[in-house]
Amino acid sequence: MDPRGQLDVAVIGGGVSGTALAIALAASAPPDFTACVFDPSGLGPGTAYAPQSASLLLNGPVRAMSAVPGDPSHLKRYLVDEPDDALICRARYGAYMRATAAGALAAHRGIRHAPVEIAEIARERDGFVLVDAEARVHRTRRVVFAMGNFAPDASFLPESIRASADFANDPWRADVGRFRSGDIALIGSRLTAMDVIALLDEHAASGRIHLISRHGRVPFVEDPRARGDATVLARLDTSTPYTLLRSLRRTIDDYPGDWRAVVEALRPVTPHIWAAWNPRERRRFLRHCESLWAIHRYRVPPATYAVYARLRAAGRIVVHRARIVGATAATRGFALELDERGARGILRVAGAVNCTGPNADLTRVASPLVRSALAGGIITADPLRLGIAISETFNTLDANGRPDARAFAMGPLVRGRWYETTAIPEITRHAAAIARDILREHRAALTVEAS
Ligand SMILES: Cc1cc2nc3c(=O)[nH]c(=O)nc-3n(C[C@H](O)[C@H](O)[C@H](O)COP(=O)(O)OP(=O)(O)OC[C@H]3O[C@@H](n4cnc5c(N)ncnc54)[C@H](O)[C@@H]3O)c2cc1C
Repeated sequence: MDPRGQLDVAVIGGGVSGTALAIALAASAPPDFTACVFDPSGLGPGTAYAPQSASLLLNGPVRAMSAVPGDPSHLKRYLVDEPDDALICRARYGAYMRATAAGALAAHRGIRHAPVEIAEIARERDGFVLVDAEARVHRTRRVVFAMGNFAPDASFLPESIRASADFANDPWRADVGRFRSGDIALIGSRLTAMDVIALLDEHAASGRIHLISRHGRVPFVEDPRARGDATVLARLDTSTPYTLLRSLRRTIDDYPGDWRAVVEALRPVTPHIWAAWNPRERRRFLRHCESLWAIHRYRVPPATYAVYARLRAAGRIVVHRARIVGATAATRGFALELDERGARGILRVAGAVNCTGPNADLTRVASPLVRSALAGGIITADPLRLGIAISETFNTLDANGRPDARAFAMGPLVRGRWYETTAIPEITRHAAAIARDILREHRAALTVEAS
């Protein structure tokens, strides 16, 4: 740290994104380099890998989930006894992240973790001033925003649901066991809903589970052996979302093997396709194609899908392709008014969980830091409400689109730039790129100071 106590970099958020960055920095930073990862909930597991349930599994295989950039077999060596294609328990992956983070911090004494929330940020002449939730001040030359998955947006729900004790808005931190008796509504029908179904089953829940979503689509099951077949890419017309979907359908119909190989082939080129579409096309994709794409791309581990299929076959799961248009709170739970393709009906449930996925609309997240960073012009909202607007080099943009060389963002909050930014392989790659940039600039600054 320099004599004024200024860090070289402050990383806000210690989930997989912030941790992968700390690991990458620890591997290459010079001994005098200083960094602090701020996160009140610890360093490593973050939102996805903290819950301690045996029912929650990774949907990516061991071979693809190393947290160490440039060392793809790191997780496999840590686990010792798991095959390449295993989908391990997410809590075990959280323990791996915690252990790997601890190893990185032990290897570089200038990199540390502070278990505190950052509440405010402001620019100063040669960097930023951060104020934490305990009113302590931290100075830093650079900042990385890695705040990840904010609790789902509930603003589209009637106030009578939002204000009720029988409503859980944060599905990743909710005590799902309290819904074990009585019927329950899960708002959303994708991966988060699948997780909540697995948790309800783990708690021997006895009621019906109503999945409510606009499209009524549930994700397909994963086959962990699936690998992308890049030979299909030449057959896809990626010029617009519609041409892409049409050519994708044709290619899958003609493909002799498993359709997942076609979808997986698109993953490495998705950022280029997304970047080539203009804002109108991107908006069209989100409005008309996103739901169909998501159920093919983000798939459910087979064991989780088996729980869903068993309960559905037993009549315990009902899928509603519907919108919630009203709700009345009862002594316990609610009467939900559903519009199912024009037909209105009342659904009585004892509780509801918001499973609509992480909220990346910065104007609607309840984060003092985000409010402060927006107000100071240090970050701006992505125009499609997919998080923080960034440049090609992960630098945050000001209102005029100018990148800030000292401020970076990564993880689920930068989806607007490349669309594929939330899964582990992308996160570790992005962490390595940001670490490289930061260290290059750090060395260049030292050379200037020395000359
Ligand atoms: C439930 C779930 C399951 C997933 N499963 C998989 C999977 O199987 N395979 C896969 O490849 N991907 C999966 N993903 C996607 C991906 O791995 C995660 O989104 C990823 O972990 C994101 O990490 P992150 O660090 O960016 O965000 P998070 O894990 O959300 O961590 C962000 C951290 O920032 C902290 N924070 C926020 N604000 C502040 C502040 N002001 N000050 C200090 N700290 C702050 C929070 O406490 C939090 O710990 C899953 C995602 C979720 C949500």
